[in-house]
This record gives sequence, structure tokens and C-alpha cells, in this order.
Amino acid sequence: MARHIDPVCKLCRREGEKLFLKGDRCYSPKCAMERRPNPPGPARRFRAKESDYGNQLREKQKVRRIYGVFEKQFRNYFKRAQRMKGVTGSNLLVLLESRLDNVVYRLGFAESRAQARQLVRHGHFVVNGRKTDIPSYLVKPGDEIVLREKSKSNGYFKERAQTISDAKVPGWLQLDINKMTGTVLAEPTREDIDFTLNEQLIVEYYSR
Ligand code: SF4
Repeated sequence: MARHIDPVCKLCRREGEKLFLKGDRCYSPKCAMERRPNPPGPARRFRAKESDYGNQLREKQKVRRIYGVFEKQFRNYFKRAQRMKGVTGSNLLVLLESRLDNVVYRLGFAESRAQARQLVRHGHFVVNGRKTDIPSYLVKPGDEIVLREKSKSNGYFKERAQTISDAKVPGWLQLDINKMTGTVLAEPTREDIDFTLNEQLIVEYYSR
């Protein structure tokens, strides 16, 4: 299975903003964007103004990197979003937000989406009573995501259970800390997505 091997902080530096790919480190002074916010590569005295195409590409790359999705898969999400009712850009974000790895991250079971993806792949979660180890599984309202019984004795989850809180859990999800269980209350909406981006640029990128 393909995976990202580049240092992830370079991705933030390339996009010129924090993408929060590394969990707690992103909130600490060790964050590369705090120490070296310039783009990777040789320093340039003059930076050319980004073209329309450049802006569209950067926005697409930013969202793809936040959710840790490869190009082909991202394009497939876009095609699916086009076939859905409503606004394509918002549909795209809702699809990405509904991925199981994102939900595991949003519930606080993992520090980052990359870590959530690994936890899902390792089979730590059960969705609606079924072991589900596919990070791209799309959750729907009513789905219940449960930490497997035997994973509860795992050192990582024992520690996580002490620090996990429902304060940051978005309104479309519900966390039961005692049972280490999450429930999908509703579909996420565009307003639930808490980072600044312009999805219309992505629509323009794929409509060229
Ligand atoms: Fe990005 Fe986090 Fe690395 Fe900072 S620590 S550059 S926010 S991945």
C-alpha cells in the first residue's frame, strides 16, 4: 500500500500554513512552522506572484494533505462529489470529513489523522459490530464506532482514555469516554470543517 514518506512538516512549510499533521507537536514551539516558516528548498530573494492555476493547485494540495489522501483517490472523491446533489466543493469536504480515519481523529482516539489511519488499519475499531480496518470507510448517521474490547488493554489506549475529552468533538459526533465509543449523530456540514480554505478553487482546478 502506498504511503507518504516525505517529512510531513515540509508539507506545512510548502503550503505556508500549519496543517496540523503531527498531533501535539503542532501546538508546541517545536513546530517547524514556528521555527522555519519559509518554503522548503533554496531561499529565494523574490517570490513570483502565484498564478490562478498556482492558487488552485495549492488549495487542492492543502486539502489533500490535511486528509492524507493520494491524488487518484482525491480525484475520485471529487467525481463522486460532482454526482451528489448540492455544491460540489462542500460535498467534497463532507466526503473527506466522513472518512473513518478522520472520525477516529475527531473523536480524539488519535493525535493526528495519520495516526488514526494507522490505528484503523491495525483493526482497533469496530463499526456497527463489525471489525473495520479500512480508513476510507465513509461513516453515516447512526454508525457506532467502538474501540475493540481487546484494544482497551493496549498501553496507548489506556493512556488515551485518561486524556481524551469531548470538548473538541464536533457536534455531528458524540463521544462516550467511559465506553470509548463514538456515535455519528448527523452528516457533517461545511460549517463543521474548522480550517480556512476555499474549496471553490479546487472545483476550478478540476474544471480546467
Ligand atoms: Fe505542520 Fe505540525 Fe509539523 Fe507544525 S509540527 S509544521 S503544524 S506538521
